[in-house]
Amino acid sequence: MQNTGTMLGPCTWRIALILLVSFLALTSPTSSQVVPGVESGYEFNDEHVHLTNYIQEGTDIHEFLTIMGTRVGRSVLFGIPLQQQWSYRISEDDAPTYYLSTDAPLYYYSFTDAFIAMAYKSLPPEQQARFDPMITGFNPADMYAADHIRRVLRTFPGVFSGIGEFTIHKEFVSSKVAGGIPSLLDPALDRVLSLAEEVGLVVIIHNDVDVPFAKPESTPGYLAQMQAVLKRHPAAPIIWAHTGVGRVIRPILHHTEMLASMLTDPEFNHVHFDISWDEVAKYVTASPESLKLSADLFNRFPDRFLFGTDALAPKNRTAYFDTYNDYAPLWPLLTKEASVKVRTENYKRIFDKARQQVRLWEAAHAR
Ligand SMILES: [Zn+2]
Repeated sequence: MQNTGTMLGPCTWRIALILLVSFLALTSPTSSQVVPGVESGYEFNDEHVHLTNYIQEGTDIHEFLTIMGTRVGRSVLFGIPLQQQWSYRISEDDAPTYYLSTDAPLYYYSFTDAFIAMAYKSLPPEQQARFDPMITGFNPADMYAADHIRRVLRTFPGVFSGIGEFTIHKEFVSSKVAGGIPSLLDPALDRVLSLAEEVGLVVIIHNDVDVPFAKPESTPGYLAQMQAVLKRHPAAPIIWAHTGVGRVIRPILHHTEMLASMLTDPEFNHVHFDISWDEVAKYVTASPESLKLSADLFNRFPDRFLFGTDALAPKNRTAYFDTYNDYAPLWPLLTKEASVKVRTENYKRIFDKARQQVRLWEAAHAR
């Protein structure tokens, strides 16, 4: 007869490991403590920045740390999942670097996840602590997308905090995606968001609230579909990027009222909004009225908005701090609580929790 008295079976080991990781998670720095390697007194945490551009080129992570300097504490880490194809048949020797430079399609470049993971892993622990890498290299219209995310987590355990920014509807981009336009109605997206609920992954999703050049009085093209998707996944910590607006996607009629009605609806308790992108800053700071409406909204719901730069492969500090500077008229209009939460604390609360939950899931699903 086998003596199992002193032997732990594989299942028991797994439970022991989960307990150990839970203990470590509970004893790791809380949001009120300073993360190692992060200087106190910084101006913001960047919830939305792209290290690489549409041809997968960009800022070296060490350079990016220099650009963040002592002004930025922590940052997400993602590139762009879509790669602009260089089609010789269309642009000959003219190599496009932006999606508006050619008619050639964009395609999902899954290697971006390995690239981001390796960039993160090249850093010492105290610098890693300043980053929250995100998985983006999946096609949200593919039923296998969730399997890709699971595979990335298991290939690079200890690295990722969430998924995104990924895009469903985006002006001039969605229609160029090879293999079909993504849709909010696609069950493939539900599979992705269900996985985010299971793992605890932060979700940063770009989805225009309306179609380009919509008539102000018309019903916003994608609002009802977006709200339905959000309601279907109440356990996923979701950040709706740019509050749904874009370069030509103007705020809908009564945009701040629409946001307020979502923020008072318990079915959207898991939803946050980011105010990243200089295009969003443009709308917020357009007039004294728009500034007041926006400041009132952020002061009323200080826990639900996050600042991000949405810088695209920033080359230097001037480029990187552009959006933050654009918001200069907004900051003094916020209460101290709202200002601190929007710029730093909401990021810490959301991403610290995700880090802990994703590590637990990884421990339970280790190979
Ligand atoms: Zn975006």
